[in-house]
Amino acid sequence: MTGGSRGIGRAIAERFAAAGHKVAATSRSGEAPTGVLGVECDITDPGQVEAAFTQIEAAHGPVEILVANAGITKDTLVLRMSDEDWQSVIDTNLTGSFRVAKRAVRPMIRQRFGRIIFISSVVGLLGSPGQVNYAASKAGLLGLARSLAREIGSRGVTANVVAPGYIETDMTAVLDDDLVQGYKKQIPVGRLGDVSDVTAAVEFLASDQAGYITGAQIPVDGGLGMGH
Ligand code: NDP
Repeated sequence: MTGGSRGIGRAIAERFAAAGHKVAATSRSGEAPTGVLGVECDITDPGQVEAAFTQIEAAHGPVEILVANAGITKDTLVLRMSDEDWQSVIDTNLTGSFRVAKRAVRPMIRQRFGRIIFISSVVGLLGSPGQVNYAASKAGLLGLARSLAREIGSRGVTANVVAPGYIETDMTAVLDDDLVQGYKKQIPVGRLGDVSDVTAAVEFLASDQAGYITGAQIPVDGGLGMGH
């Protein structure tokens, strides 16, 4: 899985390790929870992606479940957004996910089994002021997953999207308190999300029982994005 050093990714890595999977967590820092193989890999660098897969395959064998979770934000209103703000978010969130999915697919097809899960966001379909780069990258993941699903569905490989709403992690800790209270009012479930809410959906999509679900987007947002 990518982005396993902190937040949602770290929780997913812990959950899968506790369930008995052999788990590798990649990130730029390479930090990982106990019992998980930590691998340094910046997903914006194709050479590092290849090296990480080689290292993980040597340690654990071919990747059966890929969770493309690593993501960043560089928020600002469109009139102030630089090309660099746009490019870096697209390159990490969307192109980085493409890179790891592309590398994972061939061995999955060979094994006739694979589960690819992209971590998107409620804002991909809802939109969000100050986040044209981030929302575009997250909406792009749905097109990526659905096209992949059509390409490889008959080979036992599924590709799905999990779209979290507001989850309490480092990424959201920086947000203004008034903004957070505003979000809370719009969430039908009446609370912010916990990383465990997201891990449950990912675990289900990765399971053998979910083999007939592909090209789907599962919202984990307390109802915030309903209707989209
Ligand atoms: P965090 O900022 O807490 O963690 C992000 C993770 O991504 C870290 O492990 C980080 O590790 C890794 N990462 C960032 N850039 C790169 C890179 N270039 N190469 C490899 N790894 C990288 O974020 P969250 O846990 O909150 O978010 C996880 C995912 O969930 C993201 O895709 C985010 O967009 C999405 N999401 C989060 C929501 C929330 O409310 N928190 C809501 C909706 C979606 P390191 O810095 O060591 O590289």
